Amino acid sequence: MTSRNNTLESPRLGEPYLLTPGPLTTSYAVKQAMLRDWGSWDGDFRAMTAEMRRRLLDMLGQGADEFDCVPMQGSGTFSVEAMLGTFVPRNGKVLVLANGAYGLRSGQTLACLGIEHVVLDKGDYLPPRGDEVAQILADDPAITHVVAIHCETSSGILNPIEEISQATYAAGRKLLIDSMSAFGALPLEVAKIRYEAMVSSANKCIEGVPGFGFIIARKTELEAAKGNSTSLSLDVHAQWATMNKTGQWRFTPPTHVVAAFLEALRAHEAEGGVEGRGARYTRNRDVMVAGMRELGFETLLKDRWQSPIIVTFFCPADPKFVFEDFYEMMKAKGFIIYPGKLTVVESFRIGCIGQMDEHVMRQVVAAAKNTLDELGVRDATPPAQALIERAKLAA
Ligand SMILES: *Cc1c(COP(=O)(O)O)cnc(C)c1O
Repeated sequence: MTSRNNTLESPRLGEPYLLTPGPLTTSYAVKQAMLRDWGSWDGDFRAMTAEMRRRLLDMLGQGADEFDCVPMQGSGTFSVEAMLGTFVPRNGKVLVLANGAYGLRSGQTLACLGIEHVVLDKGDYLPPRGDEVAQILADDPAITHVVAIHCETSSGILNPIEEISQATYAAGRKLLIDSMSAFGALPLEVAKIRYEAMVSSANKCIEGVPGFGFIIARKTELEAAKGNSTSLSLDVHAQWATMNKTGQWRFTPPTHVVAAFLEALRAHEAEGGVEGRGARYTRNRDVMVAGMRELGFETLLKDRWQSPIIVTFFCPADPKFVFEDFYEMMKAKGFIIYPGKLTVVESFRIGCIGQMDEHVMRQVVAAAKNTLDELGVRDATPPAQALIERAKLAA
């Protein structure tokens, strides 16, 4: 941890920490890996692509050999669209489990793709539960696939993905997971949670820079998906087939981003893989939440549902608290926080992921305390309505 700390603090040249769920604060080594040009067709870069795919598959644990990893250019949303458009047959029907912006975006994507779907919309943050999924699937035999969000980044809730998987397969349907903000820090071992495909991207828990996503899918599903996609560039099967045949991406890959990502993957392994990464983020969250609670702030979620990825706090009731001012003053102290996404009460979010450790999180809390003082806010307690909202969530 001490050597990482040095890389964390010295060469940032006054850049603020990004307490956001990606792009996030990356290490100096990751940035440095981009100071070289690569030929996309050259053997060196093909070897980098192969190593990256292998390292990502290794995170699935036992049974990983039944899966393959297909990187895809673009931001995470491009990979979600590629996954949905490739694995759901044109006459398929999807149940989308939504409790925030990313669940709703999957629904919107299916609408654009012209794929039949229903959305279970749980609102801002309530989790979709296994029994609800079971009921909907029992009532609608036409549904072929369920789409779930692992960590819904808009609230920071960790959705009950095991329960959802069990309900899906008990009904003989297939699960597709958006694990964008969780993969690499939260386990998604194929021997423990059944699914056909999942998607994540370079700039979240692996701590790379933005530029591509990747789809990890069961090989039998990849084979069966030939011809499903109505998109040329977002066809996961075509990208997979080409990559396996030539070692190359079909269209220009983000070479520098891949080089940076490989560096990030090596650091991920050195930190102890998914377990080590998850442990640091959990510690980040625990230290930060405890400190913020001491100041009177309250979290949206009860601890049971709170992911170690990002935390939603209610804005204090005190009218002297104006989020825009709080944001600017935190930024001046070196911390970029994130606006909230709740529709009912005002909130903001603080991310726990990226090249940061508990020392940084203590500085975040100290900065929040000083900012409250400067604003003249004595007590960060939220309005009563906020606590009524939270009471809707099971303990
Ligand atoms: C970040 C994220 C995405 C993708 O967002 P992009 O802005 O396209 O990278 C999708 N789903 C979840 C849950 C996310 O956190």
